[in-house]
Amino acid sequence: MTVLILVELDAGAPSDASLRALTLARSLGDSSVRTVVFTDAAELIGAALADYGAGDVYVVEPSAVDGYAPQAWARVLAGLATETGATAVLAAGTDRGNEVLAHLGAITGLPMAANCTIVTPDEGKTHRLVRHRWAGLLLEEAVMEAPVALFTVATDAVAPVPAQTPSVLQVHLHQPELASDDLRVRAVESPAGAGGASLATARVVVGGGRGVGGPDGFAPLEELAGLLGGVVGVSRVVTSEGWRPHKQQVGQTGTKITPELYLACGISGAIQHIAGCAGAKHIIAINTDPGAPILAHADYAVIGDLHQVIPALVSALRSR
Ligand code: FAD
Repeated sequence: MTVLILVELDAGAPSDASLRALTLARSLGDSSVRTVVFTDAAELIGAALADYGAGDVYVVEPSAVDGYAPQAWARVLAGLATETGATAVLAAGTDRGNEVLAHLGAITGLPMAANCTIVTPDEGKTHRLVRHRWAGLLLEEAVMEAPVALFTVATDAVAPVPAQTPSVLQVHLHQPELASDDLRVRAVESPAGAGGASLATARVVVGGGRGVGGPDGFAPLEELAGLLGGVVGVSRVVTSEGWRPHKQQVGQTGTKITPELYLACGISGAIQHIAGCAGAKHIIAINTDPGAPILAHADYAVIGDLHQVIPALVSALRSR
């Protein structure tokens, strides 16, 4: 059995979400795990992938596909799935992973299941799945029957765990055959700073809600996030007010996060917000209201004004 995995990069290394997908792939029984990565730094990335049990790494260099081109990436996966005789193709349940696999489903006519948490091969062409519905508020059990199973792995499905024995690395430079139509949609530039940790995969997220008070109130949160090696996330009130862009929104209609630490500042903890942050390993809330619903989900809480607590945290971290 061969499983093919699309690996995304974050700051030049395999993204945390892709390493989680690789971890789940290893649980699919006796399978050979192969990866596809779009990069010109194969040697750096290959070693990390071998640690996670991926022996064969198919590298597509920018000379073949430059930047993010969802249909072209899917075409590459379709070609490699045939070439390697893959019985499953998977990706992380990120925006890109879900988009590329949806294209792959359209190209091949195969069914695709998004945001799976458990996948169990069940004889022949059948896979039993558990997957998120309604932003993870509901878990659905499903059976997929297909010669090649296409699915994405929910970003909080499993923790990223290296293989007990690293694989012997084999890097293959892959030159895909693409039509100009495949490159019709392509990300040609990214805003400054976009190469850093993304909200979906950051290890620390400092969240800000209505309690921050306005767009100018986010500077101390940015500073704290920087000191902790994390990023800022926000509630929907903040994006609806136009204080911050939607790409920073955590929740049912935003990004699902799975950090080690989520520091929720001035956020009440509405169910739609919790749908996005329930995968955090630890939640610390800073809130003036001891009855705020977020406290029921928090490991620790500071009852106080974030405009005092955050500067105190920043200065304590700086004095170290
Ligand atoms: P509030 O609920 O107003 O809470 C503000 C909190 O800040 C309060 O707890 C208050 O005590 C505290 N506070 C005030 N001042 C301070 C201070 N100085 N220091 C410390 N604490 C202070 N929401 C999301 O976040 N993400 C989503 O994806 C999302 N999707 C939705 C989808 C649908 C279909 C619907 C209907 C709603 C959705 N919402 C979503 C909105 C959600 O229901 C809440 O309205 C929203 O999360 C509330 O944002 P908030 O916590 O910032 O604001």
